[in-house]
Amino acid sequence: MSTELVLLGTAGAPMPVAGRGGIASALVVGDRVFVIDCGRGAPSAFVDAGLDFRRLDAVFVTHQHADHIGDLPGMLLYPWGIRTGPHGPLPPIRVYGPRTTDLVQGILATYSYHLKVMPLDAEMPDPGGLVRAADIQIPAPADGDARQPVVVMDSGGVRVTAIAVTHGHVMPALAYRFDTEDGSVVFSGDTTVNDDLIALAQEADILVHCVADLGYLKRHGTTGAELEHMAGLHTDVTQVGGVAERARVHELILTHYLPAEPGAISEAEWATRAGTSFSGKTSAGRDGLRRVLHRTGR
Ligand SMILES: [Zn+2]
Repeated sequence: MSTELVLLGTAGAPMPVAGRGGIASALVVGDRVFVIDCGRGAPSAFVDAGLDFRRLDAVFVTHQHADHIGDLPGMLLYPWGIRTGPHGPLPPIRVYGPRTTDLVQGILATYSYHLKVMPLDAEMPDPGGLVRAADIQIPAPADGDARQPVVVMDSGGVRVTAIAVTHGHVMPALAYRFDTEDGSVVFSGDTTVNDDLIALAQEADILVHCVADLGYLKRHGTTGAELEHMAGLHTDVTQVGGVAERARVHELILTHYLPAEPGAISEAEWATRAGTSFSGKTSAGRDGLRRVLHRTGR
């Protein structure tokens, strides 16, 4: 088996920017592809990365802000015609996340005309077998107890666990940890500094973490209550290295940039500032960045 991380898009916030795709990542484990969030352009980034829609196994949604799910319909529906193999239709694409049952039902209802009419003119697999959603419930911890991660999926050597993080009014917003025989990758989703995430990410090979430069946003007109809201949604560039340090991860990879414009802050500046309080390796994520995990590499 092999495990490879691919960043499909690294922009934070819904507003499209030139030169950077919306937040989405992929983890390729053996012949299965897992996608984490489906921001703007995710299906195109998926093919640009050379990934095969026949191997798309599951999508993990961190939360239902539009920048994380805007292109989920395309991720499911564009490859519908090829979701078949020599032995008939492929297994449904699984969609895991908070309230994803409602989300996927809504997508299928919205596209019901296409799902009904397209098979009249083209050979299509049964639309009823295209997708299955599973809601992730995060139970409240007992008084005084630390939150325990929820096992979301455990199959074929891939174990996925989730924990609730802190992202404004979103309840819950999730972080995910993937463990394979090659190593472990944690996706923070959108969060402020969060002790449960730090516990989830302990000694992971890679922590893919959101980052914001609140000082930059303040200098460019985000002030007062709006800035306070931003501080309750995201982890500042001055804090994210400390998160990685406390989690004792091997590599910190930055993503979900705020500001998202590639020209606003250089990759070198993002990495330098984020890495000052982290003794491991800090990398500025970019669309298309790849990392192969080697168990013996540490
Ligand atoms: Zn976001």
